[in-house]
This record gives sequence, structure tokens and C-alpha cells, in this order.
Amino acid sequence: MAKAQPGALSFEFFPPKTSQGEAKLEAVQAELAVLQPAYVSVTYGAGGSTQAGTFRTVAALAGHGHEVASHFSCMGATPESVRQQLQQLLDLGVTRLVALRGDLPSGYGSAGRFAHAADLVRFVRTEFGRAFHVEVAAYPEVHPQAMGARADLEAFAAKVKAGADGAITQYFFNSDAYFRFVDDAFALGVEVPVVPGIMPITNSSQLLRFSDACGAEVPRWIRRRLLDFGDDTASIRAFGLDVVTDLCDQLCTAGVPGLHFYTMNQSAPVLAIGQRLGWVRPA
Ligand code: FAD
Repeated sequence: MAKAQPGALSFEFFPPKTSQGEAKLEAVQAELAVLQPAYVSVTYGAGGSTQAGTFRTVAALAGHGHEVASHFSCMGATPESVRQQLQQLLDLGVTRLVALRGDLPSGYGSAGRFAHAADLVRFVRTEFGRAFHVEVAAYPEVHPQAMGARADLEAFAAKVKAGADGAITQYFFNSDAYFRFVDDAFALGVEVPVVPGIMPITNSSQLLRFSDACGAEVPRWIRRRLLDFGDDTASIRAFGLDVVTDLCDQLCTAGVPGLHFYTMNQSAPVLAIGQRLGWVRPA
């Protein structure tokens, strides 16, 4: 039976720090182009990367003909610096943003004028009108610093009401959390597309550590199997491919508006899922 089609695909990359990393990303974006992404996005300030690195990578990907979204985090920023950087993006031809609060390293001063992502979205709309298509982050399993699940949902709805055009979720492995989140958000008046963020599983220790930090639940049955595989990377990848392919299939069958892949600057895991689900023919 034919598999459901995925809707709009988007691929997230981080800015490479070395020329070797840049060459790898060149190859990765070209390999993923067979899946015809609606857009690609570049993270901002995550993992020690700089704003200059983000803008350089955004420009490079735009030069390959991609529609590019720049992630943009606002914590600790001033209105002047945000205005100037957004203008820089417009000058690069970038009209898509993933608007985020971001995280302030501990002991690093105060949040400043932009305490929450909603403040940034409001600022973008006030200063730049509809010049940008704005996505915001959503947390089906609740943001780790949230006062509570309801407060987090309401904060999400407030970001959308401030002017977001859509949302991308933190990754999850339990689709019920996503479906319930979308229903609850809709009940609060959120009608914009909420695109699931998908994290391919390619290793265990890094995934488990990162998931604990960002509040994404790795279900016990997945966690236990990953731990059993130890250093057996081939088994981890094969199991991860099964699990994440099933998740994507389930989401596509339910008619999600798209899928946003956290590629970690790798093409093979996403291409393998695409091949399994018939989005791309095996070479
Ligand atoms: P917000 O929406 O501001 O929410 C942050 C917290 O504040 C939540 O707990 C929320 O419940 C609470 N809150 C919101 N409004 C209020 C209010 N009015 N009163 C009280 N509490 C409130 N990080 C990076 O550094 N770079 C990236 O490129 C990056 N890209 C990401 C992409 C996606 C799709 C996702 C899901 C996350 C990304 N992150 C990135 C991580 C993100 O920066 C962190 O999760 C950050 O801690 C929260 O950012 P936010 O925009 O979701 O914040």
C-alpha cells in the first residue's frame, strides 16, 4: 500500500565551525535536495556557534537555491541589535525566521528587553510588518523551565497570537503528546500549522543526554534497547531507523502539515527514512 506523503519537508542545519564542516554541509544539502525541502533552516547561538556563523551559513545555503530560515534568539539582546541583525537578514534576501528566546548561559546577566520569544515576535511585527514569515518553537512534552503544562501551552498560544505564522515542535518519540498538544492549542485559538520536529536516532549516549537536557522524553522501551546496544552503532542505527520511520509514517498518515528534521548536518539518516517511506527511490 502506498505510504502517506509527508507534506512540506524542512531540514535544520547548524553552522559549521571549520572549513571541513563547511565542505561536509555543502555535500549534505546537495544529497538532501532530492527530497525537495520547502526550506532549510540554520540554528543560532546553539552549541557555542556565533551569529556570524549563522548568517554565513544562511547565505551559503541561499546561494545553493534553498529558501532559508534563520533561527534567531533574542535573550539578552537589545532592540537596536535585533533591528540591525534582522535588517542584515533582509539584505541577504532571507524572509523566514524561527523566532526563539534561546538560553542565556548561567551567570550571564539578565534577559533584557526580550524575556520571552513572544516579545521577539511582537517586535518583528511592529518593526518589520509582514516582511518575515515567522515560526516559533512548540513543546508537546512541556518546556523544561515551564511553570506547568498549562502555563507552557498558554505561553505557546501567546507567541502565536503575537504574530507567528507557524510552529515547529521540539522532537518527540510519542506521537500522542503531539496530537494532544495540537488539539489543546487549537482549543486556545491556535490555527497555524504546528510541524513536528523529527530527530533521527543515530547514537545513544548523545541522544539520551541531550533529551534529558531539553525535556524530550525518550520512552523507556527505546532507552532500554539503546542502552543494550552499547557501542554497536550499526544496531543503534538500524533500530533508530525503524522507530523514527514508524513515527514519521504515523504522523504523515494523520495528515500533519509537514516534517522538520533535525539533521545534525547528516544526510544518510533522513534519506534512509525517505527511502523507506517512498519519498525517494533507492539509488
Ligand atoms: P519561550 O517561548 O520564550 O519559552 C521559554 C520558557 O518561558 C517556557 O518555559 C515558557 O513556558 C516560558 N514563558 C513564555 N512566556 C512566558 C510568560 N509570559 N510568562 C512566564 N513564562 C513564560 N536554541 C538555540 O539556542 N538556537 C537555536 O537555533 C534553537 N532552535 C530551536 C528550534 C526549535 C524548533 C526548538 C523547539 C528549539 C530551539 N532552540 C534553539 C531551543 C530554545 O532556544 C530553548 O528551548 C529555549 O529554552 C526556549 O526558547 P523558546 O523560544 O521556546 O522560549
